[in-house]
Amino acid sequence: MVLAELGSKISRALQQMSNATLIDEAVLNACLKEIGNALMQADVKVDLVIGLRGNIKKRVNMEEMAAGLNKRKIIEKAVFDELCGLLDAGTEGAKFSLKKGKPNVVMFVGLQGSGKTTTCTKYAYHYKKEGYKPALVCADTFRAGAFDQLKQNATKAGCPFYGSYTVTDPATIAKQGVDRFKEDGRDLVIVDTSGRHKQEAALFEEMREVSEAVRPDLIIFVMDGSIGQAAYDQAKAFKDMVEVGAVILTKLDGHAKGGGALSAVSATKSPVIFIGTGEHIDEFEEFETKRFVSRLLGKGDWESFINKISDVIPEDKQPELLENIAKGQFSMRILYDQFQNILKMGPMSQVMSMIPGFSNAIFPKGHDKDSQSKIKRYMTIMDSMTAKELDETNIKELSKPARLERLARGSGRHKLEVEGLLEEYRRLSKVFSSALKGMKIPKNMKGDM
Ligand code: GDP
Repeated sequence: MVLAELGSKISRALQQMSNATLIDEAVLNACLKEIGNALMQADVKVDLVIGLRGNIKKRVNMEEMAAGLNKRKIIEKAVFDELCGLLDAGTEGAKFSLKKGKPNVVMFVGLQGSGKTTTCTKYAYHYKKEGYKPALVCADTFRAGAFDQLKQNATKAGCPFYGSYTVTDPATIAKQGVDRFKEDGRDLVIVDTSGRHKQEAALFEEMREVSEAVRPDLIIFVMDGSIGQAAYDQAKAFKDMVEVGAVILTKLDGHAKGGGALSAVSATKSPVIFIGTGEHIDEFEEFETKRFVSRLLGKGDWESFINKISDVIPEDKQPELLENIAKGQFSMRILYDQFQNILKMGPMSQVMSMIPGFSNAIFPKGHDKDSQSKIKRYMTIMDSMTAKELDETNIKELSKPARLERLARGSGRHKLEVEGLLEEYRRLSKVFSSALKGMKIPKNMKGDM
């Protein structure tokens, strides 16, 4: 999960606080010190960390707190709220939302290498799954190969695209593309613009020209999240030059400076709407502060997930299963069992959205029926595996060409589908293992973590 290390350090600090027999000023201070250190290691600005600690101490006044109050819960709640405050950009004006049935024009800006083109495609793919009809326009005439890259990505996302090898004026191409797709009845037209290595006058001038030509409903600034605190100056510079309505932070996959980037962007009062968590098209998450902090601390979602799986997995089997996953022993058999459980659990997208990284993949919102039949097809393929294959955890072994052929033949499914299953297995095994890595699995499953 994104920023897993930061989350586990904060959780550990809270856990140590809870373990103390008596929670007094000294225990609270030690806990806040740990949390502060964890945030600073994630590159959160010192002032923000000091502010956060001060706010928590103000809210948790040990002397005034009546005896009998659950101090542990009060402190946890204060930490949770203050972390949300740190990452919440506030609501300066209403947050933009796309309108169904109207042509929404969204323009992407950012420095070269920030992940802008990749993010345009992820954004298109995300909304395609939500029922929009996206299209991509390449107005990047600065970088050779930009059009080819967008074309390739657009094909992956199954979206139409527009660009030119010969027209050199970005505003002209952008306008042509937007007009064409509006005529075609596309309701989400995404314009990818040129980047530069540095913020410079030519870049801003070009952005202004494209913006004037296409009159976007929203301008999204894409920024590399691995730059940490420096995100503040960059986001501010772009915001001052063009009307940036939202920010997408990329490359937050496991990057230590992610906390710094997220809090720095929020400090500019620009809402982060999505985060990029990998190079793959669906390694993209909607950013919603409370949900993000819950997952960061491994709290709410974990509990609801456990409650859900408790309904379908026999109680004595639960710790064993999770412990195996936490140890990285995520076999095909475990995946098969999980598919079976998922089918029993009902509204699948809801259940799966509790597990980071799971929801966007084969369980898009509003497509429960499709997801169910996909899972059933995958299970048919798994039914033709031998016991040894089901217990295999080495993807290379499973992907041998002869084996793919045999599984396709045995299950009566296409070879591409077998490959699809293996791809899902590879991805989910990564997601599950990192979500549960190092986690202490409670023996009774309902107990505190
Ligand atoms: P652009 O120049 O801003 O259009 O950047 P690109 O879209 O070409 O991306 C630059 C590099 O960053 C490519 O290698 C992408 O695969 C990679 N990239 C983009 N987003 C992410 C992300 O969220 N995580 C990781 N790890 N890499 C990313």
